Amino acid sequence: MTNSTGTRITDVRTALVIGGGIAGPVTALALARAGIEATVFERRPEAADGVGAMLSIAPNGLAALAVVGADEAVREVGQPVPGVVMQDGTGRTLADFHGFPGLPESLALRRADLFRALADHAIAGGIDIRYGKRLVNVVEHADGVTAEFADGTTATADILIGADGIRSTVRGLIDPDAPAPGYGGVLSFGGIVDAAASGGLDVPIESGMMYFAFGRTFLGFWSLPDGRVVWFGSLPREESLTFAEVREVPNEEWLARLRELYTGHVPGEALIGRTAPEDLMVVGPMEFMPDVPTWHTGRIVLLGDAVHAPSSSSGQGASLAAESAVELARCLRDRPTAAEAFAAYEALRRPRVEAITGDAQRKNKAKAGKTGDKPSFPTPEQMFAPVHKFHIDWNARA
Ligand SMILES: Cc1cc2nc3c(=O)[nH]c(=O)nc-3n(C[C@H](O)[C@H](O)[C@H](O)COP(=O)(O)OP(=O)(O)OC[C@H]3O[C@@H](n4cnc5c(N)ncnc54)[C@H](O)[C@@H]3O)c2cc1C
Repeated sequence: MTNSTGTRITDVRTALVIGGGIAGPVTALALARAGIEATVFERRPEAADGVGAMLSIAPNGLAALAVVGADEAVREVGQPVPGVVMQDGTGRTLADFHGFPGLPESLALRRADLFRALADHAIAGGIDIRYGKRLVNVVEHADGVTAEFADGTTATADILIGADGIRSTVRGLIDPDAPAPGYGGVLSFGGIVDAAASGGLDVPIESGMMYFAFGRTFLGFWSLPDGRVVWFGSLPREESLTFAEVREVPNEEWLARLRELYTGHVPGEALIGRTAPEDLMVVGPMEFMPDVPTWHTGRIVLLGDAVHAPSSSSGQGASLAAESAVELARCLRDRPTAAEAFAAYEALRRPRVEAITGDAQRKNKAKAGKTGDKPSFPTPEQMFAPVHKFHIDWNARA
């Protein structure tokens, strides 16, 4: 029954992982380290769908990826963020965390590049990822669980992991009363501007530094290695729209609304004003998962956005998914049965992910103008908060 060195004591030998986004490949890699053979089933026909804009991997996410040896593959497609500058929306710097001692490493990268890098890394590590496999039903039986796919095929294993994102099918199958995603009150957008070619900006931008400009409304921005500037911002909106509905509106119209909102904002007015319609990234409604009552049954468990999507305000969605993947594998390795492992995993993860989601909702309300507060900028203590320093000791018994 040893286990501090990674020898498994579990009776779980095989797993079906539903979803080949971020959590799926990382979970399969972590399970392999725990001696459990996992197959990933992804509904898309290929690794990435090109949806979403840029996202960040925080230091805690990189630490989790390092446990499964995927950190280098992600660094190759990511841009290091050497520091953070807070501004007040008039161009004035409020705080500069440049070269702050002990600044932890984080990366900015395209969501699609992250999907591809993780899938390639998992496949190179021997993980079987099957594309074009949309899960439609799950049957739990005494000695295993069977997944049924839209193409009529099935697969059976000891356990099934629902890593199928914020609109999880698995979540609804294990609890028909599970909550639906909540709406954060804003529609998110991004854009890329060749600022130098369009006459420069009214604020200097140091390459790689991440800028958060608060003021009346919030805008984040940073420059790519080729000098172009990426921005991300949002439009408050009372009623949510689906992603498809947002896409139906021409980019020109969204740009017009964003330009109106960011009038007078430095450098939002200039950046959005110079964004061409074809360079607008439509991310869609900012969504989050309210607290989910049921995380698992006897042989089925949820992981990643399927059970704890904190909304992109937190900058933690991908990082928390990687953390949960490693923690679940550690629990499965160290507990004799799936049911005990799932209970241990929930106990470890629930308090942390619910606290981060709650914090992101407070930021979203400020962005949507519902608190009467301006979006507030973090203090150095918050910047280097325990959320970033979180580190999982793979060799410790779960
Ligand atoms: C549309 C969208 C855009 C986003 N854009 C940003 C952004 O710009 N910035 C940011 O910080 N965060 C963004 N996020 C959040 C971030 O991507 C997530 O926090 C992170 O990807 C969580 O990883 P995950 O693996 O749990 O879920 P996901 O990455 O969503 O992966 C879930 C996977 O499961 C698959 N799947 C779903 N249902 C089934 C099924 N029935 N059968 C088989 N496979 C299935 C999906 O195709 C998907 O590949 C976005 C999320 C979404 C959904």
